[in-house]
Parts: sequence; C-alpha cells; structure tokens
Amino acid sequence: MEGIKSLFCCPVCGGRLSREEGRYACESRHSFDLAREGYVNLLPANRQHSKAPGDDRDMTAARTRFLDGGWYSPLRSALCELAEKALPPGGTLLDAGCGEGWYTSALAEIVRKKGGRTAGVDLSKPAVKKAARRCPGAEIAVASVYHLPVGDSSVDVLVNCFSPLAAEEFARVVRPGGWFFYVVPGPRHLWELKEFLYESPYENEEKEEEYPGFALEGVTAVESVFTLTGQQDIMALFGMTPYAWKTPREAVERLSQTEKLTVTAQFRIHALGRK
Ligand SMILES: [Zn+2]
Repeated sequence: MEGIKSLFCCPVCGGRLSREEGRYACESRHSFDLAREGYVNLLPANRQHSKAPGDDRDMTAARTRFLDGGWYSPLRSALCELAEKALPPGGTLLDAGCGEGWYTSALAEIVRKKGGRTAGVDLSKPAVKKAARRCPGAEIAVASVYHLPVGDSSVDVLVNCFSPLAAEEFARVVRPGGWFFYVVPGPRHLWELKEFLYESPYENEEKEEEYPGFALEGVTAVESVFTLTGQQDIMALFGMTPYAWKTPREAVERLSQTEKLTVTAQFRIHALGRK
C-alpha cells in the first residue's frame, strides 16, 4: 500500500518516510510504529536507551497544568501572528522542541487554514504523548532538535520556544527565505518569583544574536502580568522553571506556603530570516 508522504525522514537511511496504517516506513523498508497516542519515535537506535531523555513526567505535568491556565496566552497569540504572516500558502511549520504541544496546537490551526502542514518534535516521551493528543492534525515525533528528522531546506517556518538552540541544524532545515522564530525570556521574566526565591536575583542578559545562515530581522517583546492564587498553580509555575532544580529547600518551603503570587512574564521573540 502506498502511504502518504510524511514530513519526517528515516533516522536510519535519511530517506523520506511515508505514513501507512499504524506505522511510518521508508523506501528501504525501515519501519517505525505509530504509538497509540499518534506519535512516532524517530530517535536513532543507539539513543533509544539513554536514561530518561528530555523533561520528565513531573516537569511535563507541571507545565501542562500551568500552560492550561492560559497565563502565557499573549505569547502564543504573538507567535501565531508572526507565523501567519511568515508562512506561505501550503507551507510547512516545524516546532523544534514542541513540549506537550500547547503552542504547537494553536500554530497548527493557523497552518491548517493556510493549507499547510505542521510537525513537532521533542526529546521527552511524556511530553510528546501529550502533544500528539493535542495536535491530531500534526505529525509529532520523539527526536532531538540537534538531529531533526526532516530534510534539508524542507521547512518554511521553524519555531523554538524555550527549547535548546541548535542553530546549525535549524539553518540546515529552514529553506532560504524561510523563518526561524526563537522565543527567549526577557530580562525580568518571572522577576517576582525570582525575588521571592533568591536574596539577590539577577536579570537575564538581553542578547540579540545572529546565527550563521540567519539575519535578525526583528524582536517582538511580549509581556503579561498575572496573579496566581492557590498552591497548585504557584508550584506548577515553579516546577516548569529551571529554578526547580537549583533553589535551596528553605526557599521552596516558603513558596509552598504561599497562596498568592503576582508575576510578570516577559518574552522576546527573535525573528530570524534564513539567508
Ligand atoms: Zn530508511
């Protein structure tokens, strides 16, 4: 049976994959089962057994709870607006580091309206399971952003939202004239949370970098201030930040007794045009 051409390539031979009943396969008959949730694992065999790659279940659960609260909606809307302008009709969007697909699902809706296709990859299996359920119309895979399972110059718009930056690999897959939207924290992102946890918090450094193959065409600043009430939401926000690993126990205990926290979220979306 002839399958539908996939956006993904075979991690064994690099050949284009086709979607068939319950699996993906290349012309050399390397085959990858479609998981029940609708994603495919495209990590090369020698990386399959590395210990718990990517974000673990707890971190994914925290992030899902927090994002579902909608406090980062201004960022998602700004990303969708940029993607809508940048994507040509019938174009391809790749979310490199898609997490549990909260941004991807909204982006996929924009792409669908323009007759295009969406793919998302992440290293974390618990996150990818959620992403596949959230984005039924997109192709979702377990894969590394450093070894994206897509062909050279095959992507019109690549989105990277708080995920590891693999600039060289992104330059390989984005076609000339295409776009890379890179979301980074602003100088005072989650400032009040940092003030609560640390005696002398420092601002994030504001960098406006260009990467080989890309020109920085613009920076969009997005800010939202919101008040979390209740332990579950406060700890969910904390649990999805890097502070969850490096905060002294005393400060975590103080936070876990707080019932109300007003926080400023500050983002920068760097629009990088592929030369
Ligand atoms: Zn193959």
